[in-house]
Amino acid sequence: MSPGGKCSLEYAYRQGTEKLGNAGVPEAQLDAWYLLEYVTGIGRASYYADPDREMSAEQKTKYDKCIEARSRRVPLQHITGEQEFMGLSFRVNGDVLIPRQDTEVLVETALDILNREEDAFQRETGRVCLLDLCTGSGCILLSILHYAKCRAEGTGSDLSARALAVAEQNAERLGIPADFIESDLFENISGRFSMILSNPPYIRSSEIAELQEEVRLYDPIEALDGREDGLYFYRRIITESPSYLNDGGYLIFEIGYDQAADVTGLMREQGFDEIHVKKDLAGLDRVVYGRYIR
Ligand code: GLN
Repeated sequence: MSPGGKCSLEYAYRQGTEKLGNAGVPEAQLDAWYLLEYVTGIGRASYYADPDREMSAEQKTKYDKCIEARSRRVPLQHITGEQEFMGLSFRVNGDVLIPRQDTEVLVETALDILNREEDAFQRETGRVCLLDLCTGSGCILLSILHYAKCRAEGTGSDLSARALAVAEQNAERLGIPADFIESDLFENISGRFSMILSNPPYIRSSEIAELQEEVRLYDPIEALDGREDGLYFYRRIITESPSYLNDGGYLIFEIGYDQAADVTGLMREQGFDEIHVKKDLAGLDRVVYGRYIR
């Protein structure tokens, strides 16, 4: 390749893979590929048809910058600005937790309950209302609203105005109407809901240092830190949620793999019924839900 000039796709891809590998990025080749696709818009079939094709100097400069950022362990999603979740594309940046595939279990649980209980929810108040606390990118609320078979109204709240700006942008891009409210949990929330959902921060403070660099350095710490025992937000939400749930309404949480006993215990103490735990694809406890029946 001529210095600072054009080079072949294959050369850039090999160089990118090597640099990421040297930087200790776990899936160097895959990430080098995603970034090549992101910069050039060229898919696999087209690449293999002619790997010697040249990329433009601007593309090469952009690719080098992306590789350099990824070498510093900036998450791929912060470089490309998006993450797929439930088959939908969400905008993300450093102000929101990047949507995790594990969280799809929470969405699927909520959709199952909605399909099963829609009539009961309608009978209770004539509408189906969802509240998502700590909404972040909005991925949970928006994907439930998108896939729900019934008409549902959704509110998402977050302590962070910057996170809400991302959630609002996602609602707009996906064409899914929802309300977003800046609020410390229930502080600015009024009314009652058929379902309250939350993936709150749940990592114990002492375990933050052990997280992989992409998470520890680039996901917002306020979205991760569940204080001393990781249960701070569950306690607050469980205690306050009965005042915000319709009779027979559901509270649905994502939890850390070792928190099922504690969270189900807290819900039982608060008077919740029909408490269940669901596992993720790795077989780890991931979701806890229960009903509040007055
Ligand atoms: N599941 C996330 C992680 O492992 C944590 C999300 C959260 O605290 N709610 O990084």
